[in-house]
Amino acid sequence: MRIRTKLMIAVAVNILVFVSVIFFVIRPYFIEKSMEQDRQTVESQIASVTETLANRKSTLERTLVDWAVWNDTYAFIQNQNDSYIASNISEESLENLSVQAIVYLNREGEVHYSTFRQEDAPLSKADRQTIISDITNRLSPGLEKQDGVYDSDYGPILYASHPILRSDTSGPVQGTLVMLEFVDADFLADLSAQTKIPLTMQPVQHSETKMTLKNDGTEVVVPLDTVFQTADFEVGFIVEPTHYQNTISMLRLGMLSLLALALGLFLSLLWTIHHVVIRRVMEIVDELKHITVERDSRLRLRRDQHSRDEIEQMATSMNEVLSALEDTRAEVLDRAFRDALTLLPNRLALEDYFSTVRGSHERIGVIGLDLDDFRRINDQFGHRTGDAVLIYIASRLNFYKEAGFAARLGADEFIFLHPDWTLEELKPIARRLTKDLKNWSDVNGVKGMTVTIGLDVFACRESHHTYEVMMGRLDVVIHEAKLSGKNRILSFQDIEDGSHYLQTLEMERDLRYALEHDEFELYYQPIVSPRPFAVRGVEALIRWNHPGKGQISPGLFIPIAEQLGLISDIGRWVLRQSMLEMKEHAARHHLFLSINVSKRQIADGSFLQELEDVLHETGFDPLLLHVEITESEVGGNLYELQQFIRSLKAIGVKISLDDFGVGTSSLSFLQSLQLDIIKIDQNFVKGIPENTFDRALLEGLYQTFHTLGLDIVTEGVERPEQLAFVLEHSGSLIQGYHYSKPVPLAQLEHYLKKTATMYDW
Ligand code: C2E
Ligand code: CA
Ligand code: CA
Repeated sequence: MRIRTKLMIAVAVNILVFVSVIFFVIRPYFIEKSMEQDRQTVESQIASVTETLANRKSTLERTLVDWAVWNDTYAFIQNQNDSYIASNISEESLENLSVQAIVYLNREGEVHYSTFRQEDAPLSKADRQTIISDITNRLSPGLEKQDGVYDSDYGPILYASHPILRSDTSGPVQGTLVMLEFVDADFLADLSAQTKIPLTMQPVQHSETKMTLKNDGTEVVVPLDTVFQTADFEVGFIVEPTHYQNTISMLRLGMLSLLALALGLFLSLLWTIHHVVIRRVMEIVDELKHITVERDSRLRLRRDQHSRDEIEQMATSMNEVLSALEDTRAEVLDRAFRDALTLLPNRLALEDYFSTVRGSHERIGVIGLDLDDFRRINDQFGHRTGDAVLIYIASRLNFYKEAGFAARLGADEFIFLHPDWTLEELKPIARRLTKDLKNWSDVNGVKGMTVTIGLDVFACRESHHTYEVMMGRLDVVIHEAKLSGKNRILSFQDIEDGSHYLQTLEMERDLRYALEHDEFELYYQPIVSPRPFAVRGVEALIRWNHPGKGQISPGLFIPIAEQLGLISDIGRWVLRQSMLEMKEHAARHHLFLSINVSKRQIADGSFLQELEDVLHETGFDPLLLHVEITESEVGGNLYELQQFIRSLKAIGVKISLDDFGVGTSSLSFLQSLQLDIIKIDQNFVKGIPENTFDRALLEGLYQTFHTLGLDIVTEGVERPEQLAFVLEHSGSLIQGYHYSKPVPLAQLEHYLKKTATMYDW
């Protein structure tokens, strides 16, 4: 989930919680509170209404008592005061008393005198009669003062009565004075004005004060008999829920503004987070992506100079990480282009250097160095000495190189390049290097240490003069120099026009031509078990019968074919040809056929399929096939090689390690390859039996391989003494001139026949 989404959710949840608390806790509290206040208002209004009514009643009562407890009235009711009516009763006095009528009842309860106010509702005599008789009927005799509101035909009437007494309240009671008042609209309006509550009056329905909660407020009815002794009416009014309504509208407004505020907060938070955090983070992410895609370790994140916030600190840290990565990368690159022992540039660096020089110079002077018998130095004097020689040579090369370039190409191979140098400049350097090395070995007591040096002035501008061609030419010169006795300096120009055929470019063309025109031929060299004698197998060795230049050694053209990428085509030819030629013999004499496979062929990937095709096509028994790989190939991709070997073994083909001892791989490493056969290089045999060291070495090797359960083929056995030594110390098979040189097929057939009869008894 994106930060923005997460933040939105978090903020929204917070706001929701906040609003919920307000809605479900605070809001009900306020509502409850307002309802409580409304209830109090209702109660106080009821009190106010009741009090006003009671006041009204007591005012009437006071007037009534004033008139009823009075000597004048007392006399009047006994017919002893004739002027009473004239002096006291008038329309005006009734209005002042604010009563509607006054009725004097004598002791028997009969009407002695009555008068009604005339002004607004003149009543007929009969009406008055009815009212008076209604009231007298309602008065219970014997009770002192009475009051009530009764339902007359003319509307509700409030009445009050009091016994007529002397002014000093002494009796006996001579009658009853009744005063009445119409409870009409004016009366109610008056009451409403006093209480400030709009009141209504209706016939009584309830026995006590009652409050009913309605939509528009609380409906209250107060029966009048709570104030008067008897009453047929009740007053009603409605108390509006003012507090409740106020609170509700206040809350509504509050909630709305709160929501608006929350929304505003939410948006402003989002905006801030987006602009301050997310946008910057996204920028950094984009820049990092760009850096990853570009794979340029020099790139850095842009920095905001004005900001010192955490994101900028993060960007700073990331830039520091990038710097560290750049350093590491530089280190790795440096290591990839440098030889760890001598610290000289390696093959990769050389190729790089060549391509830069090529564009800017006409020619390039090349010196190639290859130590003679370096393996022997290592074995004889120890690896420390071996390393010391290499480091020494590196230092001398650095010393001489001036504006040139020196590199270590392999175990004991070095190269020195200098743009524009000619042979005249190269040769003295080569001679001095030879001399330096001789001095070094004299000083360090390392006898017999020599170096073979090849020189070349390479016209690098020529389009076909590629790096491969330059290296091929150097290989050829050194090879030639080694063949002609090592420890010497030979230049490509020396041999170029001689009997040797070495023009690489021409050779490429000719190799292709040779493939198409059957110029290759296979020779076979027997591999025998000496005692009892039996030819156990043959190694197929290619020969090139060049129409113009005669037979060319594979040692010369195979390295060049490898460099030119022609080895796979040649290898394919060898595969098919050898199986076709040897199928019959192999089956008849139960011979294995050993063929050489070069690194390039393995890397090519198509070898396995081709092998299976040829096996199928020729019907050659895979169990009789051996594939020879060399130790230098083992130095490549181990996993790939293991896969290759596993696939070969799966179809029954055996694996032979060729030229053992030329490389420097450890035994445990070789063991991990599941080899079947080890072929000991002829160099081990050369010094046998004269050289004590070589004897000890070879003997040790036999023991080791025997312990490891590996089959052994000893190569290069030429002399009987050598054979004797091998026989004495091993059960090794033998491949060497002692038995046979590599020979053409016809000759091999002859050999097989001859040896079969020779040793057949
Ligand atoms: P290698 O595989 O080590 O082959 C053995 C070489 O030792 C052969 O040289 C053989 O003639 C030589 N030899 C055998 N016995 C003796 C002996 O008693 N004394 C001496 N001095 N030499 C002996 P050759 O035929 O000139 O082959 C040279 C190299 O060329 C081979 O070395 C092998 O690496 C390569 N080669 C030959 N044929 C093929 C091939 O078909 N394919 C590939 N990839 N390489 C091949
Ligand atoms: Ca071989
Ligand atoms: Ca060999």
